[in-house]
Amino acid sequence: MQVQLLEATEDPERLICQGARNDYMGEFVGDLPFEEVMGTTDGETIEDKQATLIHHLLDHGHFGPFEHPHATFAIEGVSRSCMAQLTRHRHVSFDVQSMRYVSFDDVDPADVREGEMVVIPPSATDPDWVGRNQKRGSVDEADVERREEIFTDTIANAVESYQELLDLGMPPEDARFVLPIGTKVNIVMTMNARMLMHVADMRAAADAQWEIREMTERVLDIAKEWCPITFEHYEQEMRNRKNRLAP
Ligand SMILES: Cc1cc2nc3c(=O)[nH]c(=O)nc-3n(C[C@H](O)[C@H](O)[C@H](O)COP(=O)(O)OP(=O)(O)OC[C@H]3O[C@@H](n4cnc5c(N)ncnc54)[C@H](O)[C@@H]3O)c2cc1C
Repeated sequence: MQVQLLEATEDPERLICQGARNDYMGEFVGDLPFEEVMGTTDGETIEDKQATLIHHLLDHGHFGPFEHPHATFAIEGVSRSCMAQLTRHRHVSFDVQSMRYVSFDDVDPADVREGEMVVIPPSATDPDWVGRNQKRGSVDEADVERREEIFTDTIANAVESYQELLDLGMPPEDARFVLPIGTKVNIVMTMNARMLMHVADMRAAADAQWEIREMTERVLDIAKEWCPITFEHYEQEMRNRKNRLAP
């Protein structure tokens, strides 16, 4: 899996502050230099003032101003299962790699066993992995070897069958029906900072599946560089709050 920032609002926290200060000022925010917009906010420097205001907004649940800055991420190689979870978030914009126009006819099924084209979950190979709703908590080495064998044989066979169907003239949009839900996909997604916190509330949480959790952690790492005051505060003060939304 890879997560990269493609594009993002420049100086997002200045924009958040301009939006928020607009709500409480008689003057037109568009006419004033930023220093004046922030004039009455506590803090020695402009950065301190931004931190004061942003912390206040987050602590008081005033989330509207965080809808102004947007970021676009490119995600490589997550499963279609992860994609199905991610695309449930209705305020995120998506572009998803097509399986009608992209056919995986040059992938070697032997490489599929090594993680090419299909995501291999850690539980297929790790005897100590603990996931949700497992039938058995602990397994011995023979069991985990058998798990890996069944898993990798099944995905390699599926890819072989898919490629044979393409060779037999079946259109990719129909041949794809035999591919597993773990088939990899590339996604481009855009969301605002408020939505990013919402997605993180749900998908970086302990009850989310490992794959979307890993993806969201990577998005959060990027967000901390892009919009540092907001996402440092989110990390330290908000992530483990009790009243986060539940599914
Ligand atoms: C651990 C976990 C397990 C899950 N299991 C399942 C499952 O088994 N089956 C399943 O179907 N889904 C499941 N989901 C998905 C979950 O139910 C949500 O559909 C998904 O997380 C999208 O989040 P959201 O509802 O907050 O909506 P988003 O689309 O992210 O919207 C953000 C917020 O906007 C508001 N909003 C958006 N649209 C509406 C609307 N139409 N009406 C009112 N308010 C709206 C809500 O306040 C919402 O929280 C699971 C999610 C998680 C995190």
